[in-house]
Parts: sequence; C-alpha cells; structure tokens
Amino acid sequence: MSATASSVPAGCTACGAATVRSFVQITDVPIHCNLLWPDHDSARRAPRGQITLSFCSTCGHVFNSAFDPSLMEYTQAYENSLHFSPRFQAYAEALAARLVDRYQIRGMDVIDVGCGKGDFLAMVCEHGNNRGYGFDPSFVPENMSAEKAARMTIVQDFYSAKYAGTKADLITCRHVLEHIQFPREFVRNVRQTVGDRMNTLVFFEVPNVMYTLKDLGIWDLIYEHCSYFSVPSLREVFRSCGFTVKELHELYEGQFLGIDTVAAHAPAASPDVATAEDVRRIDGFVTKFAEEYASKVALWRSRLGEWKARRASVAVWGGGSKGVTFLNVLNPGDTVSCMVDINPRKQGMFVAGTGQRVVAPEHLRTVTPDVVIIMNPVYRDEIAGQLKALGLTPEIMVA
Ligand SMILES: [Zn+2]
Repeated sequence: MSATASSVPAGCTACGAATVRSFVQITDVPIHCNLLWPDHDSARRAPRGQITLSFCSTCGHVFNSAFDPSLMEYTQAYENSLHFSPRFQAYAEALAARLVDRYQIRGMDVIDVGCGKGDFLAMVCEHGNNRGYGFDPSFVPENMSAEKAARMTIVQDFYSAKYAGTKADLITCRHVLEHIQFPREFVRNVRQTVGDRMNTLVFFEVPNVMYTLKDLGIWDLIYEHCSYFSVPSLREVFRSCGFTVKELHELYEGQFLGIDTVAAHAPAASPDVATAEDVRRIDGFVTKFAEEYASKVALWRSRLGEWKARRASVAVWGGGSKGVTFLNVLNPGDTVSCMVDINPRKQGMFVAGTGQRVVAPEHLRTVTPDVVIIMNPVYRDEIAGQLKALGLTPEIMVA
C-alpha cells in the first residue's frame, strides 16, 4: 500500500488551522517500536519511517506531519504492557475506582475502546460490579481468565459505528487517540455512537505532550504516536466534536492527560483567552525542545563513546518504546549489550532497528553491567531494589 493523498495533513490534525511549523526531524526510526523480532538480523531489517514533529500555534497540538498510516499494522504480536509494572497497576486501579465513584458507575454497562488484554476494563467491572464490553483488534481470546470472561465480552475488532447498538454508561479509551492521524474523525465517530445518551461519561487518556516538552523527553518520540496532545488541543478536539468537557487532568505525575466528557447538544463556543495563554506557553517549550534536542543527543553520544572506549558493560532497562527510541536515535552498537524488561513475553526477543536481545533482570547477573540506563525516572526505586536483590551495584543513569 502507498500513502493516499488524504493521509497528508493540510494543516493541524487537531483543529485544522494552517498555523503549523515543524521543529524536530528524526529519520529512519522503526515503525513499530513495541513489535519485537525473533532474531537479530530480522530486527535490524525492521521497517522504518520518518518523524517530522510539527506544532500548531492555534490549539497547541503537536503531531508527526510525515506520518504515513499505510505503514502501520497492529497485530497480535503488538505488545504494549506497562501493565506489568506494579506502580502502573496501582495507578490504573485508582483511576478505575475514581471513574466508578465520581460518576456512580455501578451495575452498569462499560465500553473500553482499544481494551488491549482487558485489564483496565476488568478493574472497572470489578470496582462497580459492572458489565464490560471491550473492543480491540489485537485481543487474543485465550488470554482471558474464566472469572474475567463472566463479566466481560471482548470483540476482536476496531470500535466503530456498527457497534452503536452496544449502549454504555461509561466509555473509556486509553492510549489509543495518540495513534490516530486525524483524531477528530475518531472522536466524532464516538460522539455519533453515543447519540442522545447525554449521561454517558466518555473518558479518554493520552500521553501529555507537556511532560515530553518540559522534561526534554526526546525518547518519547515514536513513530506509532502521530498525535501529541496538550491540554488545549485535547479540549479543542472534544469541543469541536460535540462534547462538553467536565474535567481535564494531568495524571500519572503529569505523564498523561485524562479528559472526562459528556455529549453536548451542539459544540460549545470556540476556545477562550485562557486557552490562548496555554498555547503561547506551550509554544515557548516547543522552541526550547527543538534547541535542546540536538544537545541531549550529543551528550548521550559522547557518554556512549566513553563507555565504548573503556569497554564498559552497559544495559538499558525498559523494553518499552522509550528504550527502543533511545537505542535507535543513538545506535550504540555492541556498547549496549542487552535490554532488560520484566515482561516475560518480551524476553528472548530482539529490539527493532538496533537488534539488542531483550532479557530478564536475572540475566544481568551474567552481564554484570557497569552502567544501567533506565528509561523512566518513575521506576528508579523499583529498579534499584531489583538490582540490589540481584547483588548488583551498577551506576544507574536516567536516559
Ligand atoms: Zn491546531
């Protein structure tokens, strides 16, 4: 398949404005960061794409204007399981409890769009004794326990207008919208399926672009994410698609945004002055990000060069997308011998693009690394504890 003319955005993919400028370019990144490969050679030959990050100074949205959706293909091998971290589990439990308590979702019907393995839907069902309907084309039926299956029905398909008959009191959609090139089309479809059920609470969660911009989270840039939402751009998408925003929060220490909405009879008035101030603030961070992107890459290249020169043993901890981007931007070769991940389904596989083997933490006893580079500062204590338990005391650095 080749890119169709309609896949090239004419303006901002969140608000349509032409006030767009590109600010970071990354060439030849693996298209599927989370898709691991069975051997080193095939991992090295993984398909690649281009990232041209663009910023809209009208709504504060960031997006990859070089994104080609025809390259994407979600399969059952797609593995996106933050869920293996105890900390993330606890966060998801608290979120499920908040939605159930805040909106009195008890004994009701809940839809989760892009439900993955149904973990979050199961939490919402359990907290409120609800009935769950999940939609995900990558769902593997045999993975579900009998206990979960009793409460939940999962459809191995994209959620679309043909499922409008499945009514819901709560619709959740977590970490889906950032994968969609034209988010307004997706949200408009959800609005259509909600129809006149004005009490249906619609909750979306996406990564927060401000977290990436503020912390120079350059390893958060991945091909799969074509949309990077800010508070004003997320609000604008839902407003323009006929939703009333009830709450819009930064979540998970600012890493995510969560939006609670209900259907509106007509789209609300256009953005207010507060939004314009937000956008100007984001604009400043975008400029700074662009300036410091190159220097952060240069700093890591020089560190990796020093470690290579003294034959230090280096491991990357975190087989998620950040780890894959880190390796692919820096391309450290043999200097980084392996990537640790606690998800047993990833272990034994190979990193797209650069080809490191993914190993269990216990494998580090063999490697005895001098340096462990961790991808997310949030997990620092958790990882330090695991290393200590293994009898290892490497220098721990945050990427
Ligand atoms: Zn915009």
